[in-house]
This record gives sequence, structure tokens and C-alpha cells, in this order.
Amino acid sequence: MTATTETATKTHPAIVTNPWESAQRQFDAAAELLNMDKSLRAVLREVRRELVVRFPVRMDNGSLKIYEGYRVQHNLTRGPAKGGIRFHPNVSLDEVKALSMWMTWKCALVNIPYGGAKGGVIVDPQELSMRELERLTRRFASEITLLVGPESDIPAPDVNTNAQVMAWIMDTVSMESGYSVPAVVTGKPQEIGGSEGRPAATGRGVTIVALQACKRLKMDPASSTVAIQGFGNVGSISAQLMEQAGFRIAAVSDVYGGIYNPAGIDIAKLLEYREETGKVTGFEGTEPVTNEELLELPVDILVPAALENQLTSENAPRIKAKLVVEGANGPTTPDADAILESRGITVVPDILANAGGVTVSYFEWVQDLQSFFWEESEINARLENIMVKAFNQMCEQADSHSCSLRLGAYLVAVSRVAQATQVRGIYP
Ligand code: NAD
Repeated sequence: MTATTETATKTHPAIVTNPWESAQRQFDAAAELLNMDKSLRAVLREVRRELVVRFPVRMDNGSLKIYEGYRVQHNLTRGPAKGGIRFHPNVSLDEVKALSMWMTWKCALVNIPYGGAKGGVIVDPQELSMRELERLTRRFASEITLLVGPESDIPAPDVNTNAQVMAWIMDTVSMESGYSVPAVVTGKPQEIGGSEGRPAATGRGVTIVALQACKRLKMDPASSTVAIQGFGNVGSISAQLMEQAGFRIAAVSDVYGGIYNPAGIDIAKLLEYREETGKVTGFEGTEPVTNEELLELPVDILVPAALENQLTSENAPRIKAKLVVEGANGPTTPDADAILESRGITVVPDILANAGGVTVSYFEWVQDLQSFFWEESEINARLENIMVKAFNQMCEQADSHSCSLRLGAYLVAVSRVAQATQVRGIYP
């Protein structure tokens, strides 16, 4: 490398709670209640494979930057590993490990035949041109083909990655194979084997479980206000679909800050405004709130749909919502969870609340493998069946053990993976 070489890797800034420790604590609670055998517990509380890659990317000015990325497979017992790829400056190996473990439980909870994986690159994509982003994506895709493939490990979009990024990954793997491999990623554009309904799937799942939770808590959607943190794929579509389902969206935010109007925000108009300005802040008829203030607003339902560690032991005592629906992965720390539970606040856990995305990803992969594509109505109906079934199974466990919905969901998911591990036995 003769050109200027600059390392683009950064260490994670001080985080309140290490997400990997949170993930292991959540697993431990379920393993304890299931009275799980010690050796099985030791297997399931660690990740199976972790790949760390460092790779150069040519910048538009001719210089090279070295990036660090990860692909982690937590578990492959029930099928190929499945999980998104995140581009963010705060990505760390521990974060990716946590996200991969949560994917294992999520897939098991909705009973789709996948294990769990996740990937990430330490990068702020906003600092890259489109061409630089494409080169970074293609090189990262090539680096992780050691693990990735339609039968082994299937990536999807996550924070700061989208259908275009998936198209570049699909193309890279296809060029290296000599033929098209659509089933290697999900969340692709429809032109190359993407599925109807996939872009909206996570938000649709959030809406389905929010409605189920309202029924359980005897809350009326039409008289319930909602605050949503994060206005990306998950947050913005949850806002649209929850509004259509009758909820009043009183606050939303993105990385630049939030907006609040207790009388309700017109989401279609807000989407137009965001399209023009790139932000939600400054939208007519709303007052500004910070991301921290948004979490503590006097609303009925809170949907964290941005990043981990948003509800902590520090702010949990001040949360006013009766119901938290976790659109993001890991937004609530275990300490905050205990506080919310003691205050009678119901939390629909991430592994169910945002499972709509991986469920329709599964449909996309099945369609790609069969080269036979379904109507959106069929996809949405199947998604709803799966989400409602998993919601009810979670509630049955939570009610029979008098525990939180999170623990109820873990009991369903962890026991499915444990049973699959036991029936397969130990190799050799
Ligand atoms: P995205 O990149 O589309 O959107 C992220 C949003 O969060 C943006 O609006 C961004 O401005 C905002 N944001 C970023 N940092 C923030 C901060 N510090 N405070 C407030 N807002 C902030 O990402 P996404 O795909 O919507 O993912 C959001 C969450 O949902 C992540 O936890 C992800 O793992 C999870 N998730 C995503 C999917 C999916 O299908 N995309 C599926 C399941 C779970």
C-alpha cells in the first residue's frame, strides 16, 4: 500500500452496559428457570464463530483507509445463520456478538429454521461517497464469504444498510461464484429476488404485536399515544402502520433530535418533510424534544427503534409509558428491565417485537430458493399468523411462570434451541 494509509477504526466510546453482558444475563435468567444442564448452558451462552476482518478501501481521492468488520455466528443448530449487517462508528465485536445471540432466540421464537448471526463494520457511512460505500461493501462482502452463503449464513439490512447495500453484496458473491446467488442475502431490491413486503416487515411486526399487547392490557389503540425513537426503516414504518391502525403518534425522533405534539403528528406529511430536509426536527406544529426527553414523555406506548442501551437504570424510574414495544435490538438494559417490571410497565421484548423483519426475510429466502414469488397479501397474512402465534406462546409462558414477557419469550426460544441441540447430539 503506497498511498496514504489511514486507519478508520475507532474504539467504542464509554457505553453504559456492554450489550454482550446484557445478552448473556438475559440468557442466564432463562437457563436458570429452565433448570438447564450446565454443559448445555455453557455451549449456548457463547458464540460459535467470530470472524474479524481488516481490509483496505480505496477512497475517491486515491488514498486507502483500513476498516475493521465482523461476522459472528452465535448458533447454527436449527438451520443456517441469519442476521443483519450494520455500518456504524460504534460497532464493536461485543455488540455484534450480542446481536447474533438475540438473532438465535428471535428465529427460534417465531419458529423459523435459522440460527443467529450478525455483522458490522466500524464506519460512519455518511462520511463516504456512494462509490466509496460500494467499494467498502463489496470488499467486506468478499472478506466474509468465508462464512456467508445461502446454505450457511444469510445477511440482511440493519442500521445504516439498505436494499442497495444488499444488492452489492448479492452481486459480489454472484460474481465470485460465476452465477447469480440471490438467496445469499435478504432485504434485496425486488428486481433481483427481493420479496414483496420485506421493506415494511419489521414495522408491520411492531404494529401487530403492539395491537396484541393493547388487547392483553385492555388499552384502546384509538385513545393511545405513541412516542417512537428512531425514524429509519423500523421507526418510520412503525409510525406509518401504527397511525393506520388507529394509534396517535405524538413524538418521533432521529439522530438529530425529536419532535412532539400530543395531539398527534401527521406521518405522511412528516415523511415528505423528512424527504426534503433529511431530518424530522423543525416539522410544523411540533415542539422540539431531545432523544432523552422523548423517552420520558407522558405517552401510553414507547417504541425505541434506534439503538441499544436507551432505557437504563438511570431513566427507567421516569418512563411514563405503560407499554414499551422494542423495535430496536437491545434498547433496554437488564437493570432497566427490572425497574420497568417493578413499576408495572409491560415490555414486549425485541426478540418478538422486531421479528417481523427476519420472518419476511425467511419468506424471501424460501422464494429465492424456489424461484417462485408470492403476493404481498399472502406474505402479510403469513407474517401476522406467525407473530400472533409467537405472541401467544410468549404470554402463555409468562403467565404460567408469573414472569416478564421477555423471560416468557426466552423460555420459548431457548428451550427450542436446547431441544434441537440435544436431539442432534454432540459431534463426533
Ligand atoms: P436505520 O439505519 O434505518 O435507522 C436508524 C434510525 O435511528 C435513524 O432514523 C437514525 O437517525 C436514528 N438514530 C441513530 N442513532 C440515534 C440515536 N443515538 N438516538 C436516536 N435516534 C438515532 O436502522 P433500522 O434498520 O431502522 O434499525 C433500527 C433498530 O432496529 C436497530 O436496533 C436494528 O438492529 C433493529 N432492527 C432492524 C431491522 C430491519 O429490518 N431493518 C429488523 C430488526 C431489528
